[in-house]
Amino acid sequence: MASPRYGICRLCGNYDKLTFEHIPPKKAFNNKQILLRTFEKLIAEKSKYREPFYKGLGRYSLCERCNNLTGTWYGSAFVNFIEQGLVYYESVKSNKILTLPYYIRPLNVLKQILMMMLAMQPPNAPTYHRELRRYLLSRTNLQLPSEYKIYLYYFAAGQLRFESGTAKLDVNNGGGSLVLAEVTIPPFGYFVTSTNNKLKPNPVLKQLCDITWFNQYQYNVWTRLHLRIPSKETHFPTPLDYRTFEDMREESEKEKINNEQT
Ligand SMILES: [Zn+2]
Repeated sequence: MASPRYGICRLCGNYDKLTFEHIPPKKAFNNKQILLRTFEKLIAEKSKYREPFYKGLGRYSLCERCNNLTGTWYGSAFVNFIEQGLVYYESVKSNKILTLPYYIRPLNVLKQILMMMLAMQPPNAPTYHRELRRYLLSRTNLQLPSEYKIYLYYFAAGQLRFESGTAKLDVNNGGGSLVLAEVTIPPFGYFVTSTNNKLKPNPVLKQLCDITWFNQYQYNVWTRLHLRIPSKETHFPTPLDYRTFEDMREESEKEKINNEQT
């Protein structure tokens, strides 16, 4: 057996033995070995190196207590939401966008997504995300810090994503967003930013379904919502890149014309 891993729990901030946090939860169909081409590895290795996740996507990043506690509090509501997404999945993939009913516990789902993103952060994360940790450490706390925005989309085609802590600056449009994390595993993709006032939101975010408002519900409250969640393609490991092959073809055509003119 491998020796135990010790480190800083991303949620409570204590130094303890770390347990493997499945991101998303194991029951949300994240229980198979996955080989993934991640952005970080791509930059570092400049090769097609793939990072192996033997137990499914996740990180050794939570102490046992935090892992169990948040699993109990938020996990089952999230799995329930995933199951509903899977029912629609086939029809949604081929349509760009459909408004559909979901019967869910919005606050629990939101907190589970934020938990996943926090668990993906580096060991020094507890210093930076104090308010967010307070929000997640109490089931009933509704004080979501205003800088965090949470988005959803359906995964239409491409590769899985498991990315955290990348600054995404869109210099052309003067917009930018700090990427807290992006995870894409069927049926959904999840994107969380922590913005600051100096950056305009990245225009691409308008294409996604903002679910930050799930925070207006109380803990464990069920409700029927009609959500308009778009389908997106993820062919590269770069966060917020949803270009289709057709988009890329058009881009290279334009480039060619520009080069011919200069
Ligand atoms: Zn902990």
